[in-house]
Amino acid sequence: MSTAPKRIGRRDPSRIELDWQDGTRTTYSTTQLRRLCPCARCIHELTGKPLLDPASVSEDITHSGTHLVGTYALSLTFSDGHNTGIFTWPMLRQNDPAAADS
Ligand SMILES: [Zn+2]
Repeated sequence: MSTAPKRIGRRDPSRIELDWQDGTRTTYSTTQLRRLCPCARCIHELTGKPLLDPASVSEDITHSGTHLVGTYALSLTFSDGHNTGIFTWPMLRQNDPAAADS
């Protein structure tokens, strides 16, 4: 069974909405996604240690584009020029900011 979202809401450049097959919705601000970026420049490939200081990411960051990576992930171009992150569906589900608050 595919874990891809049914719908990806990306009209508002300051957020991304993911509607999953089971009817739940996960909403990220673009800033939250930028801080979660899993690419080799943000997370050390071998040690898994974060290389990105979350405080260095502006609260008003936006995205200028999103595209699908195969059927398994989403990639974004952020307003700080960063575009190397691949956000897989399981990762996007697991890091739901609303779930983290509770
Ligand atoms: Zn990155």
